Amino acid sequence: MSTEAYIAWVRMGLFRSLLVLVAIAAIAGSAGPARADAGFDQWVRSFWPTARAAGISADTYNRAFAGLTPDASVIEKANYQPEFTKSVADYLNAAVSEKRIAKGREMLQRHSGILDAIEAKTGVSRHVVVSIWGMESYYGAVLDNPKIVKSTIRSLATLAYKGGRRAKFGRQQLIAALKILQAGDVTPQAMVGSWAGAMGHTQFIPTTYLAYAVDFDGDGKRDIWGSIPDALGSTANYLRVSKWTPGKTWGYEVTLPPGFNYALADDTARPIGDWAAMGVKRTFGRQFPRPADRATLLLPAGASGPAFLMLPNFKSILRYNNANSYAIAVGHLADRLAGGGPFAQGFPDEPPLNAAAKQELQRLLSRSGFDTGGVDGRIGPRTRAAIRAYQTRSGLPADGHANLALLQHLRRGG
Ligand code: CA
Repeated sequence: MSTEAYIAWVRMGLFRSLLVLVAIAAIAGSAGPARADAGFDQWVRSFWPTARAAGISADTYNRAFAGLTPDASVIEKANYQPEFTKSVADYLNAAVSEKRIAKGREMLQRHSGILDAIEAKTGVSRHVVVSIWGMESYYGAVLDNPKIVKSTIRSLATLAYKGGRRAKFGRQQLIAALKILQAGDVTPQAMVGSWAGAMGHTQFIPTTYLAYAVDFDGDGKRDIWGSIPDALGSTANYLRVSKWTPGKTWGYEVTLPPGFNYALADDTARPIGDWAAMGVKRTFGRQFPRPADRATLLLPAGASGPAFLMLPNFKSILRYNNANSYAIAVGHLADRLAGGGPFAQGFPDEPPLNAAAKQELQRLLSRSGFDTGGVDGRIGPRTRAAIRAYQTRSGLPADGHANLALLQHLRRGG
């Protein structure tokens, strides 16, 4: 070895030693994922009898938990309680953005063959299937985002171990996730999704996967992570089982005549012809295609926001995610993908009430003699009825809508 070569070799050796030292320091100093957690290991052992009783084999269990540590970011997210949440207007603008519409139209083209087959087999509209795909995972793009995508087993085990009010959910979903692994549909490494256990392109939680996922491409695996036919077929199957009516839409934006009785927006289905006879009209002068269809009237933001007549398919979308704003976003995005335009009436830019404000509202209503059936921070039918009675007595439009203006009215003592 020449002198120069020797010097180079020594330098390389020093460099390697330095790298090893840096690596050791990094491992010793990391506060997060790689740190062993004796409490978690103990929890994993204590959960085994529950898993075994549910039919999980020791092999599946050991494979799922090999080298697993809790994920601190999951606990952080599980305990996060936002003081302020987005207004429905902001939510819809973000959900049904020009970018999501353009990307969705591109997906309709690219996957038209798969969507033809899905429509033929399930009767569910391609626009709604693609809309849900766009809402749930941005057409699968979130699965490539390392900041969002997490190991499902690790997330659920963390929730089961230290998820507070989400611990029970974590345990139930973890058992279902272990069953999915055991069936061989996916490896533990490929089983990924959100911190809260929603998985793959469709964001199915494991129990939903077990009940509704399908092997649409026929390769013997229900792969909502790697197969777009399986993912979109599973979404359509979920809607079909949730009583989707083929050939019909989700709902119509409407306008109400002056002096309309808002108490009719109470989840009672009536023939659209009856609504029309009361002066309810479709926006932009459009006609209702089937006056005999039954629909409910929904005022998601009260008297000052848009109004909709909802067909039964709206309820099918709610089965996917039980929030009116979500289902309206899915339906509207589907309409936009099909070439439709924006709503005629915008949503008022009002922030939703947080849990404490809803409880205060219920306390003040009860104190004024309008029984809300308890103070649980949830605006259910009893609370809406109490709000309507209060609004009627106060000469306000009786839309049953809980917002800040109503709370302030109550605080002023009516
Ligand atoms: Ca498959």
